[in-house]
Amino acid sequence: MRVIDHFIDGEYTSSLSGRQFEKRSPVDNSLVARISEGGQPEVEAAVAAARRALTGEWGRLTLDQRVDLLYGVANEITRRFDDFVAAEMADTGQPQHVMKHAFIPRGAANFKVFADVIRNVANESFQTPTPDGRGALNYTLRVPKGVIGVVCPWNAPFLLMTWKVGPALACGNTVVVKPSEETPLTAALLGEVMNAVGVPRGVYNVVNGFGPDSAGAFLTAHPGVDAITFTGETRTGEVIMQAAAKGMRDVSFELGGKNAAIVFADADFDAAVDGVFRSCFLNSGQVCLGTERVYVERPLFERFVQALKVRAESVKYGRPEDHATTYGPLISHEHRRKVLGYYQRAVEEGATVVTGGGVPDMPADLADGAWVQPTIWTGLPETAAVVREEIFGPCCHIRPFDSEAEVTALANDNEYGLSTTIWTQDLARAHRMAAAIQVGITWVNAWFLRDLRTAFGGSKQSGIGREGGVHSLEFYTELRNVCVKL
Ligand code: NAD
Repeated sequence: MRVIDHFIDGEYTSSLSGRQFEKRSPVDNSLVARISEGGQPEVEAAVAAARRALTGEWGRLTLDQRVDLLYGVANEITRRFDDFVAAEMADTGQPQHVMKHAFIPRGAANFKVFADVIRNVANESFQTPTPDGRGALNYTLRVPKGVIGVVCPWNAPFLLMTWKVGPALACGNTVVVKPSEETPLTAALLGEVMNAVGVPRGVYNVVNGFGPDSAGAFLTAHPGVDAITFTGETRTGEVIMQAAAKGMRDVSFELGGKNAAIVFADADFDAAVDGVFRSCFLNSGQVCLGTERVYVERPLFERFVQALKVRAESVKYGRPEDHATTYGPLISHEHRRKVLGYYQRAVEEGATVVTGGGVPDMPADLADGAWVQPTIWTGLPETAAVVREEIFGPCCHIRPFDSEAEVTALANDNEYGLSTTIWTQDLARAHRMAAAIQVGITWVNAWFLRDLRTAFGGSKQSGIGREGGVHSLEFYTELRNVCVKL
C-alpha cells in the first residue's frame, strides 16, 4: 500500500510515533494511501528546518537566483502535469477536465506570477528636508517575514496551497505546509519538484495530520512560526487567530462564503444560466467563490429556474479519469452527512425541491462513493438555514426580486462577504451595485475569472487581508525604513 510521508528538510520522513491515517477515495471509498500522521515532534523538526533555511543557502540567494528557481518549480510542475492531475483526481474525485484546465495549471502559474511580481516591485524612497539644509534619504527595505505556516483546505488543494507557497517563497520566506487531511497527495508531490529543481532543503516542508490536537494546532501555536496564512472555515479561523495572538503573529485568512448570484431580466439569458450553473455546481459546489443564493428578477424567474433545473439534471456522474464525466462526488462521507443534513433541513423548513435533494442511484462499483445530487430549492424565507449558512455543496436557493435596491439589500444580508456575480446588460447598474455590495470580489457577466495580480480576499466574516499581486507582498514581507542623514 502506498504511504505518504511528511517532507521535512528536503527528505520524506515517517512519524516518530509510527502513526498513520487512511486516505479513502471519494469516488468509491477504496483506500488511496496511508498517510503519516504528524504530531509535535514532526512540527518541531519542520519549523527548525525552515528556520535554518532562512539563513542558509536560500537566504543568501540573489533575487534573480530565487526567481529563476521559482520559474524552475513552475516548469517542473508543467513537466509532471499528468502526475499532478492524477494525484489531485485521486484525492478529490473531481473530473479530469477541472484539474487539467483550472486547478493544476493555476498551481504552476502561482510560482511564475509571484516571481514576476517580486522582481518588478519598486520600493519607496523620500528626500527628507532637515534644518541644516543637507537633508536625509529615507528608503524602504522589503525583507521576508520568516517562517510562514500554511494551513490548507481540501476543495482545490494544489491551487490553494501554491497560491500561498508561491508568494511566500518569492518573498524569500520558508514554509511549513499543513495540507488538509483529506487531500495530502499534491503537497507531497511538490516536495519531489522542489528537490528536482534544487530548491535548498528546509525551504518547503510539509507535515501531514489533522487540525485540533494535531499537526494543524501544533503548527499554528509554534513560536517559531512568524506568520500564518489559512484557508478554510470561518470557525476554524477563529481558533487559529487565538493561537496566533500568542507571540503577536500576523495572519492572512481566506474563509467561508454564502455568495449571491443576481440575474436581471435584461441579462444574456444563456450566458447567465451557464454562469450560474457553473458557479453552483462546479467541483460539486465545493468552491469558496461558488453560489448558494440566486436572486432572479421576477419576469425571468420561472424560465430561469426551469433552465437551471435542466442543466443540473444533465450532469454526468462518473470516475474522474472518464472523459465523459462532468460531475464528481463530495470530498468525504463526513462532508456528505453535513450536506445531506442541509438537504433534509430545507424540506423541513418548507422548501420546494425543484430538483435533487438526495443521493443518486449509482452503479455498484461507485455505490460507496460520497455522491449527492445537484439540488435546487425555491420558496424559502431568507431566514431559513439553507439560505443563511454556508453548506459548501452542490445546491442553491432561488428567489425572485423586484428592484435593484431590494436585491442589493438581500445580497448584503449575510455574515459572509466573499464574492458575488451580477448578470445584466446595464453596465451602469453593474458598477453601482459593485460599489454597494459588501464582498471582496464582484464579477459582472462572469464567474471565477481571476487575474492573479489583483487583490483577493473576503469582507465581513469571509476573511482578513488581501492576497494577490503586490497585495501578497504586504503579508509575506516586512518593510524596514532606513533613514540616512546626508
Ligand atoms: P477547515 O477549516 O475544516 O480545515 C482547513 C484546514 O484547517 C485543514 O487543513 C484542517 O486540518 C485545519 N484545521 C482544522 N482545525 C484546526 C485547528 N484547530 N488548528 C489548526 N488547523 C486546523 O476547512 P475545510 O473543510 O478544509 O475547507 C472548506 C472551507 O474552506 C469552507 O468554509 C470554504 O468556504 C473555505 N474556503 C475558503 C476559501 C477562500 O478563498 N475564502 C477558499 C477555499 C475554501
